[in-house]
Amino acid sequence: MPGSPGPMIKEMVELARSGGGLRGTRIGAGPMGESERGEVAARAQVAYFCSRGHQTRPSFSLEAAIPDQWECPRCGLPAGRDEENPPTAVTATPYKTHLAYVRERRSDTDAEVLLNEALAKLRGTW
Ligand SMILES: [Zn+2]
Repeated sequence: MPGSPGPMIKEMVELARSGGGLRGTRIGAGPMGESERGEVAARAQVAYFCSRGHQTRPSFSLEAAIPDQWECPRCGLPAGRDEENPPTAVTATPYKTHLAYVRERRSDTDAEVLLNEALAKLRGTW
């Protein structure tokens, strides 16, 4: 009867495999934890301060270059690494609106000039 002891051996092999598998995961947990610690150690947490007093601490890979400025996740203003001298975005905001004004005026005058030119050309050709 070569067929009857076969399943018994298979059961024993499966038990041994499952036991070995459990031991394997327990042994494997050690090196996995070490690699996670290694990833944390390879990252640097840098504090950035925005002009509104918010603080953000993004972590960067030590292999990557750490930027001088970081966008504040709370208000969107640029945040710098110097807490006492955060980048001043307050002066940048009026400058942007001024530029927007200039652009609006320019587009208006451009439209007028283009319209006048078009009218002059129409009158000239007629
Ligand atoms: Zn902020």
